[in-house]
Parts: sequence; C-alpha cells; structure tokens
Amino acid sequence: MADETTIEKDKVVTINYKLTDDGGQVLDSSEGREPLTYIHGGGLIPGMEQALEGRAIGEEFQVTIPPEQGYGQKDPNMVQAVPRTNFGGIAQIEPGMQFQARTPDGARVVTVVDVAPDTVTVDANHPLAGVTLHFDVSVVGVRDASPEELAHGHVHGSGGVQH
Ligand code: ZN
Repeated sequence: MADETTIEKDKVVTINYKLTDDGGQVLDSSEGREPLTYIHGGGLIPGMEQALEGRAIGEEFQVTIPPEQGYGQKDPNMVQAVPRTNFGGIAQIEPGMQFQARTPDGARVVTVVDVAPDTVTVDANHPLAGVTLHFDVSVVGVRDASPEELAHGHVHGSGGVQH
C-alpha cells in the first residue's frame, strides 16, 4: 500500500518552487507568496509531474525540464501580424506589451513583438515556450483529494478555490 504522504495520482500536493532559465535568471518563484497547490495527475507540466511522482513531504530537489516536457517549442505559426485597427483606442503600442486576445480556443495572452504603421506583430506562444526550465522545488504538503475536489478538477480550501 502506498504511503499516504507520497505523491501519486489524485493527491493534493503543495510545493514551494523557484524557476530559473539557463542563465540563472529567476523567471518565477513562490517565495513571498502562497505556495503552489494542485491535484497530481495532470495539473502541472509533464516534466514537473514526473519529477514529483513518488516524492514525500519535506523532500527538496532540483530538476531541469526541456521544452518538450514543459511549455513546448515555439510555434512560428502563432506569430502573426494583425491590423493595427484591432487595437482601437490604444494610443501607444510597443514591443513587449501584452494583451488578452479572443481566439477560437478562448482568451489568450499575446505579446507584441513588432509594430509597423498599419500592423502589429503579436506572439501567442506561451511566454515559456522554447525555454529550458530549471526548478528548485520543496514539497510542503501531500494529502488525498476529496471526492468533490476530484469531481471539480481543482483544489478547495487553502491554496485553492473557495466555494
Ligand atoms: Zn470546486
């Protein structure tokens, strides 16, 4: 029988983490915020779930995750020039700005990469697509998910949805 505090499918897992890129620059971190809580078995990127599988509370580790196991490679088809008129009402558009775009797949954050007089080129790839991810992780909580949490597909209570 599996240990109650070992990470496996349908456990509610709480971790602290720090994400850096190849150059050691910090891209994201739970430091100074709530730790990350999720339901194991599809809640995180595949490389991270794999690294966490079988771990227990108190374990600390480092893992390097290639883009294929992270946010995927950049898709060149997701970089598109759109008419500037789509940005009606916005006086100043500059590279690096981010907008919510409506797409057939729902709302998506796009990043402006180039601005021409009549068109704006936007990149709809995930900001971490194509990036090799270096994580420092510590496991701070493992518990069974309730039947209700499994039915809803998200965590309730601390670190989760309040309803
Ligand atoms: Zn719910």
